[in-house]
Amino acid sequence: MSVSVNALGKVTVRAPLRATQKDIERFVATHEQWIEKKKSTAKESGVRLPQNGLVGYKLLLFGNEYELHLHAQARVVVDEGNKRLYLPETNAEKRLICWLKDNALRICKQAVEQWAKRMGGCPASVSVTSARSFWGICTAKNELRFSYRLLYVPKAVFEYVIVHELAHIRYKNHSRAFWNEVAKFQPNWKEKRAYLKAHALLMRVF
Ligand SMILES: [Zn+2]
Repeated sequence: MSVSVNALGKVTVRAPLRATQKDIERFVATHEQWIEKKKSTAKESGVRLPQNGLVGYKLLLFGNEYELHLHAQARVVVDEGNKRLYLPETNAEKRLICWLKDNALRICKQAVEQWAKRMGGCPASVSVTSARSFWGICTAKNELRFSYRLLYVPKAVFEYVIVHELAHIRYKNHSRAFWNEVAKFQPNWKEKRAYLKAHALLMRVF
């Protein structure tokens, strides 16, 4: 048997088919301290700001850390194998932000299109912004705007923000009806919302 706790503090126990409910309960009980510790770590944000320059800073991309490095090339390169992100030596920070915005726009547009098919509702436009005051927003004219810093959060949390803003096309408030609509597509929206609250410092990263 094994137990794991994800970034959202969700606990998963894997057990063989032959294990009884009692076996599982006993297993969880003996790991209770470890589970609680992991859950509280997941809750603490642990977000670090890039205070000592870019190089060596671990940037989160969909919840995974990528170490920033410079290189002589003119483009941004992701090294998936070594979990590194290479930036051009000149204007590195500017180039990083451009790269984040380009990718955020592309990925947000894709996600909006996919979720809109399931949820209904058609946004007037989708754009990304550098605003630090919100993760996503739906204007009165149904224009959706998303912070490019949404690229830092786990994909599941990212999807929740997309669903949240799309639901605002029908409900321009946070009424019970609105949350019911969100829950239809994101049953565990509460933990994702809690994640965003706990990681508000990510809004200060670039
Ligand atoms: Zn809202």
